[in-house]
Amino acid sequence: MSEPARATALRELCLACGLCCNGGLFARVPLAPPEVERLRGRGLVVVSHDGEPALRQPCAAWSGAGCNCYAERPARCAAYECHLYARLAAGALDPPDAHARLGRILELVATLARAFGGVDGASAIRRAAALLAAAPPVAPEHAHLALDLAELVRLVTRELDARFAAPTRLDVEDPVPPGPEATPRPEELRR
Ligand code: SF4
Ligand code: SF4
Repeated sequence: MSEPARATALRELCLACGLCCNGGLFARVPLAPPEVERLRGRGLVVVSHDGEPALRQPCAAWSGAGCNCYAERPARCAAYECHLYARLAAGALDPPDAHARLGRILELVATLARAFGGVDGASAIRRAAALLAAAPPVAPEHAHLALDLAELVRLVTRELDARFAAPTRLDVEDPVPPGPEATPRPEELRR
């Protein structure tokens, strides 16, 4: 594949995904102090985390189909490559294979979002991690959700970011779990 074709394939993959911008993978993006005012000037939400500035996710610059401040995005954004992106960039995957792998992840995110009702897919993926760290649903009619949650975390871990391997450790740095107010109680799945 030519370099321009590779660049196009990478761009199309990220535009179809957005999980590293919409809160699916991360709760925040660490910022360098000089970036703070520039990003605030673009209307993005900058918070303090452990005394350091960070860009809150879901990122206000994510349009659902791209980054609205791409040319001025933080250095951490510019440097981030999930496993899938890196493998496509290296030629270890072809575009159809990469999209097929991403497609199953997005399908599971959508299923969980529907199951939890009224939450976006980005929240659903972190809720999945939080639920797996707590207790799986036991009601037979919800059993498939436990399987979906398990498959989602397994796929995210393998295909996107290995830090999802241990949901109980998500509180140390991004990816992080949602706040208590956004975390569904395990019993909600038992009814
Ligand atoms: S998670 Fe990977 S494929 Fe998805 S938008 Fe981020 S870098 Fe692109
Ligand atoms: S600034 Fe752009 S690249 Fe960075 S998280 Fe926001 S939408 Fe994504």
